[in-house]
Amino acid sequence: MSLHPGKMTLRFYPYELKLAHTFTVSSYSRTTTPDVQVEIDFDGYTGYGEASMPPYLGHSTESVSSFLSKVDLSQFSSPFMLEDIMEYLDSLSDSDAPAKAAIDIALHDLTGKILGAPLYRIWGYNPDKAGPTTFTIGIDTEDIVREKTLETAGKYKILKVKVGLDTDEQMIRAIRSVSDLPLAVDANQGWKDRSKALDEIFWLKEQGVVLVEQPLAKERIDDTAWLTERSPLPIIADEAVQRLKDIPKLKGAYSGINIKLMKCTGLLEARKMIAYARAEGMTVMLGCMTETSCACTAAAHLAPAADFCDIDGNLLITNDLFKGMIVRDGDMVLPQGPGLGLTKL
Ligand code: MG
Repeated sequence: MSLHPGKMTLRFYPYELKLAHTFTVSSYSRTTTPDVQVEIDFDGYTGYGEASMPPYLGHSTESVSSFLSKVDLSQFSSPFMLEDIMEYLDSLSDSDAPAKAAIDIALHDLTGKILGAPLYRIWGYNPDKAGPTTFTIGIDTEDIVREKTLETAGKYKILKVKVGLDTDEQMIRAIRSVSDLPLAVDANQGWKDRSKALDEIFWLKEQGVVLVEQPLAKERIDDTAWLTERSPLPIIADEAVQRLKDIPKLKGAYSGINIKLMKCTGLLEARKMIAYARAEGMTVMLGCMTETSCACTAAAHLAPAADFCDIDGNLLITNDLFKGMIVRDGDMVLPQGPGLGLTKL
């Protein structure tokens, strides 16, 4: 770093992600995901960041671009002013988490590059503890579910299955006909009746399911607390938790939280959420959206601090821009380069 570094400059451009398979969850289907790539330059270094906007969250290329156009990073002396910069971004709007996450990720990449060390090393995490990621199988016909499951053979140690429609049992049986891997299930708020949900969870446990994500609508805190109290499996909040401030009201209602950078504004807040969840004895899961290896690798740097990881967004697209975290024999392998450790493809 020079003694008189220049100002930070921010660039961004839209980039449409193409999905390898049509993706169906309990509420919608899609084949592409809008995305915005961010680059921040400082003192001869470039940090990469990304905003991914699955349409159901209400963000778009336009909303992200509009937010990023308002951001003036030249008022900050360096990318190390992370707390100040994120506070400034929150002062610009109450929403726009993906755009804020894109800046946060790029700043973390920059600071790591300037320090010459990978983020996990700066944070004191053991990269050998990154552990496995689940690979997600969307809701589909039994034949396609069987085919997709067979494609994963030998590559993963745990699968995640989208449930929440009236085909759950067929989905699980189709997978079980070709795989005995442990399963996580994600109902995406799709179950309506708490007693039926509890019966299904007991059945799922017999089928080798190890955790349940967002069983009921996010507003139904009391019903979810009822379920969690009786459930033989951990119940993880996803749609019900966005940021740090959402966790206190979930205490007792959920066993844990699914932290995603695009929901929580990035790595700085994600690390605070992990610390808070740990203090409350909650399970920590890390998730992602459909993203390039930029945002997925950013999330993967936190993996040594999590109990479960679902960081497969980069594996679900056909037009990745980077090489970063890879999955080997089912485990995530973190890159060794400084910052995020990305290589541009
Ligand atoms: Mg989920």
